[in-house]
Amino acid sequence: PAPAAHVALSVMRVRFQYPEQVVPAINNLSLTVAVGEQIAILGHTGSGKSTLLQLLTRAWDPQAGEITINGVLLHKWSERALREMTAVVPQRVHIFSATLRANLRLAAQDADANANDEQLCAVMQQLGLDTLLMGDGLNTWLGEGGRALSGGEQRRIGIARALLHSAPLLLLDETNEGLDLFTAQQIRHLLTTRGKERTVIIVTHHLLGLEHFDRIYIIDRGTVIEQGSHQSL
Ligand code: ATP
Ligand code: MG
Repeated sequence: PAPAAHVALSVMRVRFQYPEQVVPAINNLSLTVAVGEQIAILGHTGSGKSTLLQLLTRAWDPQAGEITINGVLLHKWSERALREMTAVVPQRVHIFSATLRANLRLAAQDADANANDEQLCAVMQQLGLDTLLMGDGLNTWLGEGGRALSGGEQRRIGIARALLHSAPLLLLDETNEGLDLFTAQQIRHLLTTRGKERTVIIVTHHLLGLEHFDRIYIIDRGTVIEQGSHQSL
């Protein structure tokens, strides 16, 4: 199917085991997200949060169970359609050996390739990355042989990519590294308040600041052990 403007998601009894592992990282996991819902997935380190997000972007295929978007199995969507429909901030942001401009536009390859320099600079400012613009500006070379970035700067580049990509589904893999709690909350706010119809799934370690989420899933060893509102948990 052609890229959809709105995304509802269903994960049904999914099981996934990494090739070299002896236990599954995701085990009989089910959850559903309606169009425009904001869902948080909470779990300890190693509980399978990032793996789940990777399954949603088809970095891996599950060995059992089904993942559907708008009722259509994930593997029936083209890679391109999935990319267009999904803005992702991965746990580890990859910086390419390329200009800052190219690094920012990367995630928006298909959808919003025409973000102009002004928009790119505005997002950089929003995220407090203006210092990176000094000197060569958007032509600053990053990656190998280029300007070295701190962990927090790399993280923000990943967030900038997602902000520039107006996809109907946002997947945010939060990490405690690189950003202080206050900044992390600000950025979460920036990312989750863009349009009522945008479906949001964030992965996080702490309940703090999840009051506004429609539902919270707590996962452990790859499976949902509890779900509810911030209040009920
Ligand atoms: P964290 O909070 O530390 O980011 P997480 O909840 O995101 O943890 P995952 O990264 O999904 O956890 O890992 C789930 C399990 O799968 C862990 O046991 C981990 O060791 C394993 N795992 C993760 N990535 C790989 C990989 N590429 N190859 C093999 N095993 C992996
Ligand atoms: Mg993770």
